Amino acid sequence: MVSIREVAPRDGLQNEEPIPTDAKVRLIDALSGTGVRRIEAVSFVHPRAIPQMADADDVWAGITRNPRVRYSALIPNTRGAQRAIAAGFTEIEVVVSASDTHNRRNLNRSTDESLDDITGLISLIHQAGATVEVIVATSFGCPFEGDVAPARVASIVERVRADGADRIAFGDTTGMATPRRVRDLLAEVRPDLLHFHDTRGTGLANIITALDLGVTEFDASVGGIGGCPYAPGASGNVATEEVVHMLHDMGIDTGIDLDALIEVAELAEKLLGRMLPSGVLRAGPRTRLV
Ligand code: ZN
Repeated sequence: MVSIREVAPRDGLQNEEPIPTDAKVRLIDALSGTGVRRIEAVSFVHPRAIPQMADADDVWAGITRNPRVRYSALIPNTRGAQRAIAAGFTEIEVVVSASDTHNRRNLNRSTDESLDDITGLISLIHQAGATVEVIVATSFGCPFEGDVAPARVASIVERVRADGADRIAFGDTTGMATPRRVRDLLAEVRPDLLHFHDTRGTGLANIITALDLGVTEFDASVGGIGGCPYAPGASGNVATEEVVHMLHDMGIDTGIDLDALIEVAELAEKLLGRMLPSGVLRAGPRTRLV
């Protein structure tokens, strides 16, 4: 069994042109009917920084919550944590980048400063009874610094685990991971979950490599929603239906109904008004409508 967290509503939409609140609600509700057990629903960020997530509270209030689905929210700071807690989220994610340059560009502070912030955030979130997942971005490489040493990622993991982080994820933020890089990093330190991009066509190969090394939790985005912020026009997140299609054919269950998922990918194309970068969506069994 492989557990997939669907990240299109947050990570995906954050890297697309903004769509209306009711379109986001439709997307999340459609996803929650596919059998997927985890959905990254929103992020509580400043609307000036990420206008795509300005309506996070309305989206969260608007969806029909499926009791079989665990919903999570991403937060960048104390204000975001307070909003997520007030909204009732019990699974909260924070990000820190293994690359100092990427962290400064993304969060306007050094990696060490972010880690200091995360110490306080973990304690605040735990006091509210919620769990914290720390996502280590650029774990497999940085668009500004190039290679990121596995030992650097390991030291970040050691620090946040000591602070009480409940879960660790590694993000391949700009699609630099390859099976070789996956093996090198996982030989040094193990995450609970992996987040791969398919920017350079290695997404599925990386997932197979990680599976062989015992990782069973992956992020994916229906239709491959979400481009690459550093490479306009390139694809970003691995497409959920591509992952599910491959795993099911390998005899690995995901709990997800592939046909239902492809229908959601078709819906996502209509909601976003663009062709999405998913091979299974293009070549799947269904007649294309657009
Ligand atoms: Zn992503």
